[in-house]
Amino acid sequence: MIEQEFPWHTEPLRRELADIARLPHALLLLGTPGIGKTRYLHALAAALLCESPAGDGRACGRCDACGWVGAGTHPDLRILTLPVDDDGKVGKEIKVDQVRALSDFLVVSGHRGGRRVVLIDPADAMNTVTANTLLKTLEEPGDGLVFVLASSRPDAIPPTIRSRCQVRVLEGPVMEVASAWVQGETGCSPQDAGSWLAMAGGAPLHATQFAEPGRAAAHRAMLEAIAALPETPSELTADALHRVDARQWLPVMQRWLMDIGRCRAGAEPRYFPALGSRLAELALRTDPAGLAEAGRGLAAQYRHVEHPLNPRLFCEASIECYLGAFGAPAPATGR
Ligand SMILES: [Zn+2]
Repeated sequence: MIEQEFPWHTEPLRRELADIARLPHALLLLGTPGIGKTRYLHALAAALLCESPAGDGRACGRCDACGWVGAGTHPDLRILTLPVDDDGKVGKEIKVDQVRALSDFLVVSGHRGGRRVVLIDPADAMNTVTANTLLKTLEEPGDGLVFVLASSRPDAIPPTIRSRCQVRVLEGPVMEVASAWVQGETGCSPQDAGSWLAMAGGAPLHATQFAEPGRAAAHRAMLEAIAALPETPSELTADALHRVDARQWLPVMQRWLMDIGRCRAGAEPRYFPALGSRLAELALRTDPAGLAEAGRGLAAQYRHVEHPLNPRLFCEASIECYLGAFGAPAPATGR
């Protein structure tokens, strides 16, 4: 079974497939995390390989080719993604060997006489060597070869790769569509869907994660620890945060800071509207330069978020970045 694209991506998919004869040989799909880019990518690949596509160009879901795409065995499809080792640990990079392993695939013509498709997801996981190796193929792709790359981090795509692709920006759903989908997936109330979506920055796939027992409570605890700064000593916040995976608390800290920035600029908070008065109070104590600096500092922390060498130190360094929004700490007295 091939997975259907998410409902909010049906229209973009139809538009992409409307003039399939003029499809570029390399596409780069950009979009924020948690909106279903991977599923879109697979639906697009299925449509390109389907042997009896529907009138709108989408995959039929019934032919042999669709069956093979669903099973991951289509001979004319290659998917380059993060490698998973025997212990189920996901690697950090798409390795150059993965691109080199394509070489045979790239020179033979399609087994089914049609297109050949290579998906690279996430494309930002290619290191420089991998990207350079791919470059040559992107310059002179064989007949019927289509590359589709996806990424949430456009800045991390080398300009050399980007310039050889046509860029498409994939949008997430509007709030009502997202809320209806989250309710349908989790059976939650409209109120919960709204607050989970706000916490997830509008990303529906991330919002559903709050339906897991304990997840919303854990999120609340992280948020409370962050919101208590700077009055609460940073050691206490570090105590609360550093045992949790940094991939969970760093985005919360970053969104909290963004909401302070929005309040500072006179806008409504985007992520934590229920805590508007605390945000407004904190916003008064910041200055624009400090806020911008803190924002850059936290963004830079993402480079190490997957595998911080020392979770406690990583947490303390992130808190220090955040506190920069409130100006330099007052010099200690009595010494
Ligand atoms: Zn089909």
